Amino acid sequence: MTATIIDGKARAAALKAQVAEEVARLGGLGVEPGLAVVLVGDDPASQVYVRSKGTACRTAGIQSFEHRISADVEARDLIGLIDRLNVDPAVSGILVQLPLPPHLDPHVILGAMDPAKDVDGFHVVNAGALATGRWGLVPCTPRGCLLLLQETLDDLAGREAIVIGRSNVVGKPMAQLLLRESCTVTVAHSRTRDLPEVVRRAEIVVAAAGRTGMIRGDWIRPGATVIDVGINRGDDGKLRGDVAFDEALDVAGAITPVPGGVGPMTIACLLENTVEAARRQHGLPDPA
Ligand code: NDP
Repeated sequence: MTATIIDGKARAAALKAQVAEEVARLGGLGVEPGLAVVLVGDDPASQVYVRSKGTACRTAGIQSFEHRISADVEARDLIGLIDRLNVDPAVSGILVQLPLPPHLDPHVILGAMDPAKDVDGFHVVNAGALATGRWGLVPCTPRGCLLLLQETLDDLAGREAIVIGRSNVVGKPMAQLLLRESCTVTVAHSRTRDLPEVVRRAEIVVAAAGRTGMIRGDWIRPGATVIDVGINRGDDGKLRGDVAFDEALDVAGAITPVPGGVGPMTIACLLENTVEAARRQHGLPDPA
């Protein structure tokens, strides 16, 4: 069997086009979505991410505001900036690029954000909403993974799914989303015993451990759908996922590549969240 390669770039392009249409519709109603991205320090990878988020916003017609702050900023000054963004009517969404320098507690900094503007979906209010089945802004990467799964599989209900990784950013919200879709969900982590055997049961595998090629082809159930969230840069400068792609290709039913799988979906879902936040802030219903 050769797996179908799930084209995250194409799916993300379609979603971005949909977002651009919605931005135009909102413009007609006098609503202009805007995203404020806060970058603390000069981490090169973060700079690349922030730049690409700004470009994606502008392409979709969303206003983009960048705040570059020195790495030695004091927590109270950073919170002061977030306070101002919280009440700025031009700002529908706020994103604080992670990781933060070690002296800044991400829980405190992210907690200062108005949950209605938390387009990364990391605020405890949004995490709690997801866990309790209420409306909230959903973290972008897991949301992107879910959209790819929904496009690949007719019905998720009742399927055995495994999420490898339990971070607040990917693993936990991914598991919550799959549970919401009525999958039977296992969450694996570094203390999981006999991971290959646990992975072999799953029809859906979401790999988010940050370990290059850790998930081997012979761990995968034949025909399974494999979503590879991992982004690992090798010594050769190339990006690789958490799944041994060439091995998995012979066994899986469908698989996302790295790059070109989940990554583009993350940005598209960020734009979608920004527009959704703007709509909610103006009391507008979701588009039909
Ligand atoms: P974290 O480092 O926060 O979490 C990694 C998780 O993987 C932890 O729960 C850890 O377990 C688990 N883990 C680590 N090693 C193993 C192992 N050998 N066996 C089983 N579980 C293991 O990473 P993130 O969740 O932030 O990111 C995960 C990956 O996804 C990274 O490669 C990151 O670059 C990528 N990523 C990609 C995005 C995209 O847009 N495509 C967006 C965000 C992240 P434990 O809790 O026990 O330590």
